[in-house]
Amino acid sequence: MQLKFWGVRGSIPSPTRPDQIQQKIVDALLLAGRQNVDLSNPDAVRQFVDSLSFLGSTVGGNTTCITVELDDTLIIFDAGSGIRELAEALMDRNSEWAQKYRFYSGQGHAYLFFTHMHWDHIQGLPFFRPMNVAGNVFDIYYIHDYVPEVLARQMQYETFPLQFDQFAAVLNFHQLEVGQTVEVSGAYITNTELYHPGRAFAYRVEGDDAVVVIATDGEYARLDYAETRRFRDFYANADVLVFDAMFSVRESFIKEDWGHSSALIGADIARSAGVKKLLLFHHDPTNTDEEISRVLQETQEYLGDAPYPEVMVAQEGLALTLGASEPNTDFFIDDYLEEGIVFIRLSGKFSPHVTEKFRKHLLTAVQKYNADKVVLDMSSLSELTIAGIRAMVDARTQVLTLALVGLPSRIHRVLEISGTTDFFAIYESKEAALSALNSSALANSG
Ligand SMILES: [Zn+2]
Ligand SMILES: [Zn+2]
Repeated sequence: MQLKFWGVRGSIPSPTRPDQIQQKIVDALLLAGRQNVDLSNPDAVRQFVDSLSFLGSTVGGNTTCITVELDDTLIIFDAGSGIRELAEALMDRNSEWAQKYRFYSGQGHAYLFFTHMHWDHIQGLPFFRPMNVAGNVFDIYYIHDYVPEVLARQMQYETFPLQFDQFAAVLNFHQLEVGQTVEVSGAYITNTELYHPGRAFAYRVEGDDAVVVIATDGEYARLDYAETRRFRDFYANADVLVFDAMFSVRESFIKEDWGHSSALIGADIARSAGVKKLLLFHHDPTNTDEEISRVLQETQEYLGDAPYPEVMVAQEGLALTLGASEPNTDFFIDDYLEEGIVFIRLSGKFSPHVTEKFRKHLLTAVQKYNADKVVLDMSSLSELTIAGIRAMVDARTQVLTLALVGLPSRIHRVLEISGTTDFFAIYESKEAALSALNSSALANSG
């Protein structure tokens, strides 16, 4: 699962001003002088700039837009001014995004979920060029009754040159119930209501390999344990929680009923919900990069040594890869035939992510060699899970004999603990397996 931020500001776009950019340059040059950076060396300069954090960069000024990608499926959350940046990536034929999703040629399909209809969550939609291309299809999900009507109203003749019904793409509207779950490409997306003027909704995306919760525009006025239970349950064990950190704690106490929260309240809720990464989001348009960076440091300080959550600033352009792409690349499988017996070598981690790969490989190998005796060479296996054992147990029904060789002691112990050692013929070495299996072949034929 991939997560990317295209707009992270609340309320109204707030680009970095020229004087702020100038000040960043002045501060950076002074620092470079103090650190004796070799300004004639491009690599040294680049390294120095990379170390500058928000002094050499910006949180970004576009309003809310986030994408979640599940393999080849694109899901967009909200259409603040950040969605214009997404539109450029999708329409520039030279970009990876354009080639992957093909909106520029009218072959694109995406899902668009709205948290609510405040300006900062819809104002980019009129500039979302993929909607101007015939053939593209958008499935639009929302909860409030008036969503199609409000989207059309922001593009009336008096306020915008193009009218909403002039979009050439197919727009399919789907109204969701509060708490309803919808399946998108194997992921389950559900919602819960947040305290916000006019109501806003958080979305939880549960994919095979990761869970992301997008909870922007929400106030948590009552912080007692019992009062936050509904949110803890909804955010529980998320890999990423995108959280409304618009206010300081002090402001959130004073600006009651404004419908926003703070980084520290997010830290409390995320910590008790077992969230792994807390992303501070919906930054106040008046907050500078330095102020947001300070909030990040204070939140980290507040959490102290707690291993979770890791706190990050949601910054324009930030992309995170979540979930199981790694376990898949940690597992290798190959095969060869020797003396009429199929040897399948397993190496790395035999985790629940790779059992399907194992099953398919076994079937293909047996067919390819037209043989029914299989030896699994496990000498390079570093991890065996119960799911892996289950797949091996099932595999016995696909072949005449399934033997195991070269078990590292740790892997052998896992088989012992699971009580399945007697399910398999286990040999010390390849040679031992070969002579045993071939003599049993003689015995069988004799
Ligand atoms: Zn907002
Ligand atoms: Zn709002």
